[in-house]
Amino acid sequence: MTRPDLKNSIKKIREKLPKKAKPEQETEKAEEAPKPAKKKSSITWGAIFRRINEIVMDRVADIVTGIDKVLDVMAWGAERASVLFLRKVHGFREGLMEHATILKRIFLFGVLSAVVIISVFMGAIDYTYSYHGRALGIVKEQSDVLQVLDLVSDGLTKEYGSTVTIDPEKDITFTPIISAGKEIDKPDTVLQKFTYMGDLPTTAYAIMIDGVQAATVQSEDAGNWVIDTIIDRYITGKREDYELVELSEPVEIVEKTVKLSSIQNQRDALAVIDNGISKTYTYTARQGDTPEIAARELGITVEELLAQNPITKDTAQLQEGQELRFTETNKTISVKTVGLETFTEVIPYETITQESSKYYEGDEVVSVEGQDGKQVVTSRVTRVDGELVSKEDLETEVLTPAVNKVVIKGTAERPPTVGSGRFIRPVPYTIHDKFGIRWGRMHEGIDMWDPGCYGAPVYAADGGTVVVSGWYYACGLTVIIDHGNGFKTLYAHASSLAVSVGDKVYQGQHISNIGSTGRSYSPHLHFEIWWNGKPVDPMLYIS
Ligand SMILES: [Zn+2]
Repeated sequence: MTRPDLKNSIKKIREKLPKKAKPEQETEKAEEAPKPAKKKSSITWGAIFRRINEIVMDRVADIVTGIDKVLDVMAWGAERASVLFLRKVHGFREGLMEHATILKRIFLFGVLSAVVIISVFMGAIDYTYSYHGRALGIVKEQSDVLQVLDLVSDGLTKEYGSTVTIDPEKDITFTPIISAGKEIDKPDTVLQKFTYMGDLPTTAYAIMIDGVQAATVQSEDAGNWVIDTIIDRYITGKREDYELVELSEPVEIVEKTVKLSSIQNQRDALAVIDNGISKTYTYTARQGDTPEIAARELGITVEELLAQNPITKDTAQLQEGQELRFTETNKTISVKTVGLETFTEVIPYETITQESSKYYEGDEVVSVEGQDGKQVVTSRVTRVDGELVSKEDLETEVLTPAVNKVVIKGTAERPPTVGSGRFIRPVPYTIHDKFGIRWGRMHEGIDMWDPGCYGAPVYAADGGTVVVSGWYYACGLTVIIDHGNGFKTLYAHASSLAVSVGDKVYQGQHISNIGSTGRSYSPHLHFEIWWNGKPVDPMLYIS
């Protein structure tokens, strides 16, 4: 029986009931009769129930029609009697009419009872609600489900991070049942059931990496976000500025029907792809196994074995039955980029060596200090996950050229480091105090100075070996050279020393610098020449 048929049948009953009724009952019927009909029209009827209802209502209609006919006959008879038996009989007619009213009321009561029974019966009709054929529960009214669907979408979004819209027409089916004491879901239970149904099938998007489903997200946009995020980490500036941006594996985002709970939010999906696919291998040690054997069995190095297991370098033997593990993580995807990059580079200076006869053999003098330069290089750079794989220099712009270091190597024959017996002046300054008695005591050398001589170099008066280089009594910082021929020379009051004890020096070699250390009142060189350990007048020997 279709819905229009049903409507017709109800209409039929409604028409029959009030039409033949007497005015005084009409009010009652008008109040009572439409009620079930009104309720019926707002509900979808189940086939079985509809059939039962149809039979019951048809019966009621038939009975009412039958009663009407009887009453009509009775009323007709009463009228006839009243005509035939004049006013005296009038009372009888009224009595009869009174009886008719009672009869009618009895039948009406029957009708109403039937209606009440139907109503009660109808009240026992509930609905199972299903999502894509999966029965979730029973509700009193379909609206108990329909009214929470928006909340369900919100709940699912919170629970699974995916937007799931439920279409009541396509996704939900209702089946009427007589629940007979079964549990009826309230709207909040309905909401809960939907929200926690992780295995509800839904449309999602799988991120396929080389044909393998790597992650599942709620939308194509979310999938693209994941892929773009992976790529953009290795992009500086704009992607279109690169000559090539390429993923190591083919990637596709495909629509799929999946269980709701398998949908990942985009950040989780990204993490899954980032972490790669892990595989764990295990090996159970046999008697006498060493870490080396276990590592070989697992196809890894001993270092890798140690890193992931509670054993150390000192572990000589493994315990029998000990389980060794190795987890290998393979990156699922990598990003290759090719683009132009500029690098600021240091241009290192070079050292150039020149020869000069101005310096003795073995002596080296730096004539120009080296200085690094700076340049900007433009290169075509290939990177995989940001790591430089290859670099091809295309253009170089020098910002500051390097200054090469120039070292001059002496070529002149080194003079002898033994005494010649002839002395030169160790400094070119004026001789102020001579050898001899001075202020009542012996002055055993000569003093040489000129204004501004502090720090000037002091040269060896003849070749020889340094026997003193350091603090020497009242002389302060002093160098003494043994010339190996009975002569020694002494150079006092230096501000600094340039030789060490044992050094072989040649005539004219820089040995110290003028100062005023020891018993001295101003910068000067106090110079002595000793012959067989005794000071002699230097003026007699220096040229
Ligand atoms: Zn002196």
